[in-house]
Amino acid sequence: MKTPCIGICKNKDGVCTGCHRTMSEIQQWRHLTDEQRDTKMEQIHKVVSTHTCQQCGQPAYCEISAGESHCWCFEITKRDTTSIKGVHCLCRSCLSKLPIKVG
Ligand SMILES: [Zn+2]
Repeated sequence: MKTPCIGICKNKDGVCTGCHRTMSEIQQWRHLTDEQRDTKMEQIHKVVSTHTCQQCGQPAYCEISAGESHCWCFEITKRDTTSIKGVHCLCRSCLSKLPIKVG
């Protein structure tokens, strides 16, 4: 089975620090087709992107921008984004490094 798992899975507030999948993406992974997995892995590995992450300047993928009704970032524990200026989402690695939103 195709998987971006690199064997160091650790749930950090909703995102795996190893493969950057959300916990629900990991749970649903076995229900996806190979094609759906490829697409997801391309998004995670920044092969396809909708915009540039304003934090690190690397390609980032927002499912909302891509026309989906749901984005991976809804799944994770809310991060405190007050230090971030701008309108675009961060990439998976930058967003998961932000502090957890309090309150
Ligand atoms: Zn980034």
